[in-house]
Amino acid sequence: VPFAIGLTGGIGSGKSTVADLFAARGASIVDTDVIAHSLTAPGGAAMPAIVDAFGAQFADASGALDRARMRALVFSDGKAKAALEAILHPRIRAGALAAAEAATGDYVMYAVPLLVESGTWRDRVSRVLAVDCREEVQIARVMARNNLTEAQVRAIMAAQASRAERLAAADDVIDNNDGLDALAPQIDRLHAQYLKMRD
Ligand code: ATP
Repeated sequence: VPFAIGLTGGIGSGKSTVADLFAARGASIVDTDVIAHSLTAPGGAAMPAIVDAFGAQFADASGALDRARMRALVFSDGKAKAALEAILHPRIRAGALAAAEAATGDYVMYAVPLLVESGTWRDRVSRVLAVDCREEVQIARVMARNNLTEAQVRAIMAAQASRAERLAAADDVIDNNDGLDALAPQIDRLHAQYLKMRD
């Protein structure tokens, strides 16, 4: 397995913020959310299989996934959720590995929101890096960013690994409870560590 980092964290913990800071230092970020989105964009590679399995009404006029309709379906139907994941997950993994092979940075950092939950990513990465903050901080940031209520944010969090589970699975942890100024020194230290580990 080539040296690679798996970056994870709960909703709104600060994964994208942290990924940008690693990218600025030379890491190649491979973001599975971005790949998932492109698979279900107009002409996306997962759209034929989705239309096959669920029907043409799950594609909008542009040929992209009708996200609101699919969200409503998988929210109430576990079998549909499993069927969608069976289509998406192997394609996301293949897309991520292809992007990693083409990457030219100092090392690859996979950003995987559900790394701890999904299991299959653990074997592909040399280190798991978790972005951590207190739940109250996480809730406040997501409420502000997405214009959601506390109850809505808590419902999303309830479907994810707990803070304790994520910390238990992590090799390295970034403390993102404080302002952005507190991130840079932590990222400098970890980036130097990863360059050493890679060599
Ligand atoms: P998601 O899981 O939803 O993709 P994420 O883990 O990528 O989220 P970010 O988008 O990086 O999280 O951060 C969530 C929100 O909190 C954003 O609006 C971001 O600007 C803000 N934020 C992140 N870290 C900090 C910080 N240290 N100080 C202040 N605001 C922050």
